[in-house]
Amino acid sequence: MPELPELLVISEHITNLLAGHAISQISVYNHIVIHGLTIEEFSRGAIGETVQKCEADGKFLIVHLNDHDIVINPMLTGRFRAFKRYRNPTRIDMVSIQTDGPSLWYSDTKKMGRVYLVPRGDYSLVAGFSGRGPSAMNPTLSLEDFTLRIKQFNGQIKSVLRNQRFLKGIGNAYADEILLYAGILPFRKRVSLSLQEIEMLYLSMKKVLFRIEEILAERSLDDITTEKRDFLMIHNKGGGICPLCGGRVSEVRANRFKTSYCQTCQK
Ligand SMILES: [Zn+2]
Repeated sequence: MPELPELLVISEHITNLLAGHAISQISVYNHIVIHGLTIEEFSRGAIGETVQKCEADGKFLIVHLNDHDIVINPMLTGRFRAFKRYRNPTRIDMVSIQTDGPSLWYSDTKKMGRVYLVPRGDYSLVAGFSGRGPSAMNPTLSLEDFTLRIKQFNGQIKSVLRNQRFLKGIGNAYADEILLYAGILPFRKRVSLSLQEIEMLYLSMKKVLFRIEEILAERSLDDITTEKRDFLMIHNKGGGICPLCGGRVSEVRANRFKTSYCQTCQK
């Protein structure tokens, strides 16, 4: 659920809180989220190392240590919080990383997230990490790059936007927001888009993602975690009023994912 704008802001909070602090303890409350290593191996590798910085990479969060990286893919319901003092875990807490300063807690109600400890810079064992496209928020991503890339992907345009092999960082909610601004229906086939529509999509993507990052940058880690995405214009607003035209917002559900759109604003 956290998409790139959230993870960029979250990673900055974590860097500010934890950089320079040494890891003293790893507590795993639910081993299901730990991938690739036993809990003992995970703890042994991380304890004693110092947090250098935290970084967002598409929909992954990476905590750089001395010789290792902790890589977290929060999937649908992973959340990050920091606490100054130790607290008792609740049933949604999965892992806590305690340092000689604050501790970082990862919680996940659906337990679908994945947490890895890998040798620094080696992400070969992290599922879904390699083969992804450039960041959707890379400031140097030009319209030309975007157009060339998008032509390599077929199918419905919303699925293309969410496909991390196209660009990394966009998920279900922000794909809906981008498509509203671009005036394009989510079910349109990519091949049916004109060059002008592709340009609108590119501009809308930048506008939406950077605007959301700006809003989130004002918020605390806790506020981002409790997830009041009160800035959403259309996603999850089925039956409500479209803020652009005043019409009714339509919504369809496929698998676990909702698609919200406006039949008037989007063609
Ligand atoms: Zn509308």
